[in-house]
Order: sequence, then structure tokens, then C-alpha cells
Amino acid sequence: MTSAAPRYDHFIDGSLVAGTAYTENRNPSDTGDLIGLYAKGGVAEADAAIEAAARAFPGWAATPIAERSAVLQRISAGITAREGELADMLAREEGKTLAESIGEVRRAAATFAYYAGEVLSARGSVYASLATPATIETVHRPVGVVGIITPWNFPIAIPAWKSAPALAYGNTVVLKPAELTPGTSWLMAEIIHASGCPDGVFNFVMGAGREIGVRLCESPDVQAITFTGSSAVGRTVAAAAVAHGMKKVQLELGGKNPLIVMDDADLEIAVDAAMDGAFGSTGQRCTASSRLIVHDAVHDRFIEALVQRMRGLTVGDARAAGTTMGPVVSESQLEQDLKYIEIARSEGGQLAFGGERVEAETPGYYLQPTLFTHTENDWRINQEEVFGPVATVIRVHDYAEALRLADAVEYGLSASIITSSLARARDFSARCRAGILAVNRSAAGTDLHVPFGGNKASSYGSREQGTAAREFFTTTSTVYTYA
Ligand code: NAD
Repeated sequence: MTSAAPRYDHFIDGSLVAGTAYTENRNPSDTGDLIGLYAKGGVAEADAAIEAAARAFPGWAATPIAERSAVLQRISAGITAREGELADMLAREEGKTLAESIGEVRRAAATFAYYAGEVLSARGSVYASLATPATIETVHRPVGVVGIITPWNFPIAIPAWKSAPALAYGNTVVLKPAELTPGTSWLMAEIIHASGCPDGVFNFVMGAGREIGVRLCESPDVQAITFTGSSAVGRTVAAAAVAHGMKKVQLELGGKNPLIVMDDADLEIAVDAAMDGAFGSTGQRCTASSRLIVHDAVHDRFIEALVQRMRGLTVGDARAAGTTMGPVVSESQLEQDLKYIEIARSEGGQLAFGGERVEAETPGYYLQPTLFTHTENDWRINQEEVFGPVATVIRVHDYAEALRLADAVEYGLSASIITSSLARARDFSARCRAGILAVNRSAAGTDLHVPFGGNKASSYGSREQGTAAREFFTTTSTVYTYA
């Protein structure tokens, strides 16, 4: 290990707490670049953070809403003030391009600002009793200590969209970031601590999911778990959280999202949607449109135009000017992508573009954007989440077949259709079973004030974002008053 690399410690109970061990974090664009040494915690650190959060809870829950709102405003301003530094760290540790990284950091700042405002609406409901003279009110209360477990692919947007409503509605937090990208969320934790958030309200512990994540799920002092990650881990999280104290649980999981291109599609819009949906963020988005379901009538023209655009992507160092697609996040992710490329070949897919590693000036995990045509929906390449810049084309004869195949996967996160028929667009919106639907655009992202989440194996529990977040981060009490 290089001693000159900066060390990053846990934040527990308002203080930086040194690790008993540290893990290296390296830049996927240049593996010779050691970003830092990150404290590696275990059950002891998780317990210390949970205890601090439990002690801080009564005080934070009783803090006037306007004061909690002001703290969130200061966090938002702090993120904005350090936007360049945060985006540079994000690009350096995950491999998103700088433009994508700046977008993500701005989203995090906007999320804290949004909840600073949303919490001020502080509403409940009043009912009349049907059978008695009582007045009935519902009130929303904070849940308690919230365990937040996040993935590597949005290392500030996802920690922000869980932490901001948790704090706004009066909960205290223990956040465990993903091992691969702790750096950007560490900077967010530093900003939260500088914002006047009282000691113990927000705790940040780094380390392995199977130690800290499991401990959060099993601790009797944690009342809610919000998790984003793979469906396989999500299942174990939900089971543990329910078995240990019947905690509230919210899961956002994987996807295998379709983009339908109909015979009446504007092909320029279709290609734009496929480029963003399949290759934006190097394909490492839960909402990535990795299955392109294309009508016979436009099949060949669509593929020709898409391949033409793929040729124009510049794969390279995430922080270099001119790069339009960064590396994948890690060696094991690269191996997984290459494994799925081999699976697609062996299943009979025709490679229309890519499929190979890219040699760049620096040693990194670079992969060509990759497209397979002539694939069948029931092949593994079309059923399993790759989580890289690998897309497939499935040819269909009509809309009914396209709609049927769109839903014929275990996931149901996002889905898009490119069509100029309003009737077809409405039918698709009514019948496709994904949680996020888009007409004439990729369904890769949403505004921050609308519900976010999927169906089937893609989500569990209440929706995230917007006013939907209040459902998860508060409990509702119904009060009868006879006066
Ligand atoms: P992952 O499931 O491997 O890890 C997610 C988090 O869970 C990490 O912090 C990890 O340390 C922790 N963890 C691992 N084992 C655990 C356990 N047994 N108990 C508790 N926590 C544990 O996922 P990843 O590789 O970091 O992220 C990629 C996945 O996330 C993809 O499947 C992607 O689709 C999904 N994702 C979903 C959304 C969404 O909103 N639906 C958004 C982003 C990413």
C-alpha cells in the first residue's frame, strides 16, 4: 500500500473514527491511480453507529421541522459549493464521464433542496367518524433509525435520495455505501457533518455488505431498511429485516428493460433513445434499455443507424475531454460483461458491433459498446441483467408480440416505446407492467418529485422519491378525539 494515499475514516456520532483496517480504492480508468484508503468496518463499527443513531433519534425527531429543513438546505448548498470536487471524485472512482458525473452531483443537491421544501408541507388528514362524535386525525411520525444500503453505480444520487427524506422527516441514519465507490458518498457525509446536523443523526460506516449490511438488517435498534442493489442480495435483506423485528423494508433492485421500436417510429428518436438507454453511464444503470424490441418494417434501417452512432462513441478515461463513454467499474464487472458477450455468441446472436476490450493510454476496464442482433427473448442474454454496455435486438412482427416480449422477463423496472401512434402509446402505458414507462424517450431517469420504482423482481415496498418517500420514512397514527 502507498502511504501517501489519503485515508478516509468512518463518521460515527459526530466524529471521524479510524478503521482497524483500510481498503484501497483505485480508478477504473487508470488502475495505477490509487484514490485513497477507506476504513473497513465490521459489526463493532455498525453497532457503534446504530447506538449513536438511536441516542440521537428522540432529539432529532423533536427538532422543529423548519430547523431540519434548514439543515437540508445547507447540505444542498454544500454539495453545490463542492460540485467540481464531487464530480471529479465520482468520475475517478466509478468511471462515469465528467458530464454524467456533474449531472449526478446536481441531482443530489437538488434532492436535498427538494426535501427541505417538501417537509415544510407537514400535512396530515382530518376525518369525521361515521358512528360516533369523534374527530379523527392522521399524523405522520418519524420511524426511528433507518439503515441505508446503497450500490456502486450512483454513489451520490442514491445515498442522497434516501438520506434526504430520512433526515427531513425526523429519522436518524446509518449509511453503508458500496465497497467499490465509497469516495463520493464519503464527501457527502463530510458535507452533512459540516451542515450543523447534530451528532449521531447521520452516521457513515464503510465495509462489507455481508458484515455491516447484515448487521443493520438484524439489529433490534434499526426500525427501517432502505436498500438499492441486486435482486439476489435484496431478497436476503428483506428476509433478514422482517425476521428481525418486522422492520419496514424498501428495495430497489435490478432490471432487464425493453425499448420497443414500432413500424411507425421516428428512427432518429429511436436511435437517440437506444444510445442513451443502452450506453449512457456505460450501460451500468438499473434502468438501462438493454433489450431493443424492433418491428420487422424498420429492423434493418434501425440497426444500421444505431451502429453508425455507436461507431461515434469515444471510449476512454472518464475525466478526459472528448470521452463519451467511460470504463466499466471494475475488473469483475468487465469479466461479467465479457462472459455475457460469450453467452450471447454461443446462443446464436450475431455481433453487429463491439464485443472486445479497448486498449487505452492508461490501464483500465474499457469495453466497446456492444450490440447483438437476431436474438431470442428467452435466451440468457435477454433474461439476465448484464449491467454493462451490451444491448441486444429482438425482431418482432407486430405490436402484440412486442408487448408480450417486453413483459416476458422476471424484472419490471422500466420500459419504453417509440411510436407515432397515440393510441398505441396509451395502450402500452396501460398494459406494460414496468414501474417506469416512457413514450418516445428512453426510460432511464425520472424527475425527482415523482414516484420511482419497479414491479415484479425489480422492487419491493413503497416507491422512492417525491411525496411517495413520506410513506416509507414516516409511520401513520390514527387519532380519535372525543371532546
Ligand atoms: P449489490 O447487491 O451487490 O450490493 C448493493 C449493496 O448491498 C452494497 O452496499 C453491498 O455491500 C450490500 N450488500 C451485499 N451483500 C449484503 C448482504 N448480505 N446484506 C446486506 N447488504 C449487502 O449491488 P451492486 O453490485 O452494488 O449494484 C448493482 C445492482 O444494483 C444492479 O442489479 C442494479 O440493477 C441495481 N440497482 C438498482 C437500482 C434501482 O433503483 N432499482 C438503482 C441502481 C442499481
